[in-house]
Amino acid sequence: MPILSHEQETNPWVSAEARIDNAAARLGLDEGIQKVLKSPTREVTVNIPVPLDDGRLEVFTGYRVQHSMVRGPGKGGIRFAPDVTLDEVRALASWMTWKCAVVNIPFGGAKGGVICDPAMLSDCELERITRRYTAQIMDVIGPEVDVPAPDMNTNERTMGWIMDTYAMHQRHATTAVVTGKPMELGGSRGRREATGRGCMMVTLQALKKFGMAVEDTRVVIQGFGNVGGMAAKLMAARGFRIIGLIEYDGAVYNPHGLDIGALAEHRRETGSINEFQGGEAIDKHEAMFLECDVLLPAATENVITSTNAGRLRCRILCEGANGPTTPIADEILADKKVFVIPDILANAGGVTVSYFEWVQDRQGFFWNEELVNSRLEEIMLESFDSVTAFAEKHKVDNRTAAYMLALDRVTNAIKLRGIYA
Ligand code: NAD
Repeated sequence: MPILSHEQETNPWVSAEARIDNAAARLGLDEGIQKVLKSPTREVTVNIPVPLDDGRLEVFTGYRVQHSMVRGPGKGGIRFAPDVTLDEVRALASWMTWKCAVVNIPFGGAKGGVICDPAMLSDCELERITRRYTAQIMDVIGPEVDVPAPDMNTNERTMGWIMDTYAMHQRHATTAVVTGKPMELGGSRGRREATGRGCMMVTLQALKKFGMAVEDTRVVIQGFGNVGGMAAKLMAARGFRIIGLIEYDGAVYNPHGLDIGALAEHRRETGSINEFQGGEAIDKHEAMFLECDVLLPAATENVITSTNAGRLRCRILCEGANGPTTPIADEILADKKVFVIPDILANAGGVTVSYFEWVQDRQGFFWNEELVNSRLEEIMLESFDSVTAFAEKHKVDNRTAAYMLALDRVTNAIKLRGIYA
């Protein structure tokens, strides 16, 4: 790996390209196909004028990147954050392509973002931004075209606004235009828990591979939000020992296992995991280096880099977040023989149940939670087994194997369709 500045190392699009290059070279893909795989199909930038509550008019910038639509409609979330960049959205869109291909669901990859700070905006302002953004990307989304979903700082309510705006223009309810909706608007049972549940399912499969018992397994989780919070709750209920939880403002440790229900209650009451009586407060920067069996980063990108990967003391790294590890850190983890369950596999439970939601909306027929979870398990375990078998067969790490499988599937679809010119 060439020497990169911290900025280059943590640029998500640089990471995304490095992973594509590595897998493409190992698959022996020709240069032309590599160019196609690296070029997003469409990138839309919109400037969104929105009246603020105080009467001022502000203009926000939003993006929708459709990386690939070869295997099906684009699929991917929309994030609202002050530091959203086109490179980030582009990388996230490409990760969605590979993620959908790894779990073999009939979607391509897309992602959206709006540069705004939700903490500084009222609900009414957020609704206006969402509706105007939707109206301005209307031509490039739709159940057969590109299906958005929630991501950082967007949620079920945001998806309800998008669906309504789209429906008003179409003149009829179109539930399948977005996923991650409230149940009342065609959301799926089990969607809220799906990503955390998927992380648990693949971790259980890894334990089985190593002959490790669940009750002896110590887990450290970074991020107590949708993914990390659900993973913590479900894993604790399953018998895992969650010994550490890390948030942006502090970390808590209990070698006997944290009471996750009590911790969630404490956070609901106080707004923070700090001062939780059921554990010891520890430095949030040091908590990632606790000795554990499973480390589950479920907060944000680039938390495992060349500067700290050498200090991790986990046996299994289950990537709940998107892009938590940089390519240089990958090499360090490989030397340390950490078993990595890569993001495009580990956190694919969310998009898998989003796919189920889209299917149910189009059928107008809804499944019970047991059916959702059993179908999710079937896909997660089958995908885990294919990735690890491929890695063993080709003597590569799990991330490279996941990318090789995904690139191969997308390339096959491109070849079968042919290039229309
Ligand atoms: P979230 O906003 O619900 O939760 C993130 C949590 O992490 C928050 O509690 C936040 O306070 C905490 N956090 C943020 N920065 C942190 C830091 N530097 N250190 C420690 N804690 C920090 O978001 P989420 O939906 O759980 O998503 C988390 C990650 O998982 C993101 O990378 C996202 O792209 C990815 N992901 C989410 C889903 C999903 O279904 N929600 C699916 C696939 C991937």
